[in-house]
Amino acid sequence: MKKNINLLIVDDDHFILRSMTRMLGRIEMLKLFEADNSSLVFDIIKDNEIDCILMDFYMEGITGLELMRLLKEKKNTIPVIMLTGQGDEELATTIMKAGAYDYISKKRLSEQDFAETLTKMVLNAVSHKQEKDEEDRSLLALELSEARYRGLIENSPILIIRFFPDEYMVSFINDFFCTYFNVERFSILGENILHLMPKSNHDSFKNYVENISPENSVASFEIKTKSDGELKWQMWTIQGIFDSEGKTAEYQCMGADITDLKKTQMQLMDQKRYLQSILDSQDNMIIVADRNKVYEVNISFLQFFGFYSTDDMQKNFDRIADMTVEMEGYMSPEDSKTMWLENVTVDMAEGQYRLIAFRQEGSDNIHYFSMKFRPLSIESDMFVVEFSDVTALEERSKEFENRANYDALTHIYNRRRFLELLDRGIKNARQFNHDLSLVFFDIDHFKNINDTYGHNIGDEILKMLTALTSETIRCSDVFARWGGEEFLILIESTTLENAAKMAEKLRKTIMGYEFPEVKNVTCSFGVTSYHPDDTVESFIGRADSALYRAKESGRNRVIGMKKKTG
Ligand code: GH3
Ligand code: MG
Ligand code: MG
Repeated sequence: MKKNINLLIVDDDHFILRSMTRMLGRIEMLKLFEADNSSLVFDIIKDNEIDCILMDFYMEGITGLELMRLLKEKKNTIPVIMLTGQGDEELATTIMKAGAYDYISKKRLSEQDFAETLTKMVLNAVSHKQEKDEEDRSLLALELSEARYRGLIENSPILIIRFFPDEYMVSFINDFFCTYFNVERFSILGENILHLMPKSNHDSFKNYVENISPENSVASFEIKTKSDGELKWQMWTIQGIFDSEGKTAEYQCMGADITDLKKTQMQLMDQKRYLQSILDSQDNMIIVADRNKVYEVNISFLQFFGFYSTDDMQKNFDRIADMTVEMEGYMSPEDSKTMWLENVTVDMAEGQYRLIAFRQEGSDNIHYFSMKFRPLSIESDMFVVEFSDVTALEERSKEFENRANYDALTHIYNRRRFLELLDRGIKNARQFNHDLSLVFFDIDHFKNINDTYGHNIGDEILKMLTALTSETIRCSDVFARWGGEEFLILIESTTLENAAKMAEKLRKTIMGYEFPEVKNVTCSFGVTSYHPDDTVESFIGRADSALYRAKESGRNRVIGMKKKTG
């Protein structure tokens, strides 16, 4: 409460006014204002914050009652205490009915009593007024918030419907509900809420409702409705409203229209199906992935790796790592998780090709693929990889490579490749000052074998002889068919003597081998070693000379020949 109370005393009798002022002037907390006519009253009220009015009931020209009514008309709520004359108690009812806070008789009390009683009355009136003001304010606030709430309920695009547990009777629907479903409020109120939804939803709806409890007071679900031939979807939540004993008093359902969302979802699904059918119509394997995961694959991909579905593929993706064939020049898995996906993004630019090889599920066949990389978008890090099967091409190019380097009949190096390797061998020998030896050998009387057993048997002998030789020599030795039934062996880091020993061992092995039908086959050997003055021609030429000597001196023998010096 504030320190000073502004009390306005209204009386047309100046004598009473003065004596009143004198009496009450002694009370410190009161600040007094005086008015002897009604217009002065309004002036003072306008300029001062008057807390209480002490008003004479009988005034000339206007009664206290009338003045009170005027004050009320001007929306004035200052508490009025009415001064009455002695014996005017019967007026009390009228005065109080007119809205005075209290009344006091001028003459009944002694001066001292009057001042005290009046002060108490004023204090009470002021504090009562403050309480009342407070009450009014909160009432106003409540009214405002209620109005706001009502506005919200009626105007927001939220569907609201309430119903009682009993018979699911609808107790409330908001305007938006009526507009949305194009229904009249009176046709819905009192109905069973189940009648408003398709039968197919009844059981699940009842189930939601029955499971609502104070602990679990909200349930959410989607409903598809059809009104005026138009399909609509809503997302609903039901909420239980409980009484103090926890029993459900009412249920409130709030729904939002999600038709657009659903339509977009369906469009997306359609689009996905459409894209998937395009992917599946491709013979090439296609994946949509980012560096950590493969999201979409087509049927070709599933079939090649033996997956049942995209799900199966995602769960067992590691299997692809096991099926990746590691080869030079081909992309290979870093580890079973990231696989080559990570490599793809790091290494590849749009439209670029990389090779990858996979073993096909259920067979040992290796398929070679050319991967074409296409980023989907910069933001998402997603990309598309198309795998074109290039196995046929790859095999043909391997065949060409074989043909260029290997002898078709015996599968050992041919002359062309031998010369390349001899060149390299000579360079190494020069650079590191290594020994380098060459064995030239030729089948003895091979013509006779052909003539006696036929050309096919001759071929078989050539094949068996090369196999036998390959087994006998070291892996590091370079073994080649020079032509016809002539062969060369290049032996690195080996002296003439040791090469001759090796040739001797080979000669004996061949001689001791029992070839089918033909039985014994022998060969003659010429051996030499490299000299820094040698050319390729002189080197091979000397080995050939040694071979010639071996033939001349009776065949089935090894002749070594050093470069003549000086
Ligand atoms: P020599 O002991 O002097 O070496 O007598 P040779 O009969 O082995 O020598 P010659 O050079 O007279 O005959 C080589 C024969 O090897 C002639 C040729 O028909 C045969 N020949 C060459 N290439 C092949 C082949 O690829 N397959 C078969 N079956 N025979 C071949
Ligand atoms: Mg021969
Ligand atoms: Mg020959």
